[in-house]
Amino acid sequence: MARENILIVEDEPEISELIQSYLEKEGFQVHVAGSGQEALHAVGLEKTDLIILDIMLPDIDGIELCLEIRKSCNTPILFLSCKSEEIDKILALSVGGDDYLTKPFLPGELVARVKAHLRRNRLLMNEKKHPHVIRYPGLEVNLDSREVWVGSEPVSLSGKEFEILSILIRNPKRIYSMDQLFEMVWKMTSLDGDSRTIMVYISNLRKKIEKDPSNPEYIINVRGVGYKFNHSLFEKNELQ
Ligand code: CA
Repeated sequence: MARENILIVEDEPEISELIQSYLEKEGFQVHVAGSGQEALHAVGLEKTDLIILDIMLPDIDGIELCLEIRKSCNTPILFLSCKSEEIDKILALSVGGDDYLTKPFLPGELVARVKAHLRRNRLLMNEKKHPHVIRYPGLEVNLDSREVWVGSEPVSLSGKEFEILSILIRNPKRIYSMDQLFEMVWKMTSLDGDSRTIMVYISNLRKKIEKDPSNPEYIINVRGVGYKFNHSLFEKNELQ
């Protein structure tokens, strides 16, 4: 799975290095910008999944920088500041910040908040009408390019396998019967064909994406009803 990119905007190296080491241990790709200008440059260059933004910077004020970033992107922004006055917190959140931590903070708390914001953002992405990339722990599905990644490995699915996976993953709260899946994928009713074909395709799909196909984590059976995508993996990921 493509690693998530986090940008730390912080002019004090001891703090940025500390945060960087904690986030890298969690598997994130981390970039550090020591000034507002560097930060704007970095945001324009590549996909950033979350920004940790110090308020007191040598060139641009973090609040102003946040306003500037918000003109072009909706990446979650978590503010860091030495100031603890309530007014700063309100100001930071009112200019488009998503969260606020006052220094000194526990690195573990920062990591937990980063994960919570990334998770929320992924959920929002999933709920968009036309999602492009859907990510679950260990699984990434690009609905435009039809690429599927299991961990860091690309997986090749047949057209029908991809159709089944994308239907389930787009609507993870919904249970689909074999007849429904058959009708959606084969565009014919189960009277015209054998909907049990779905079982064969699901079995092949599981061999390709599940760690243990006999004990599936992603595509689960709902006894007597059908199949669904295991939506609770988001929550599990959060607790790790
Ligand atoms: Ca600073």
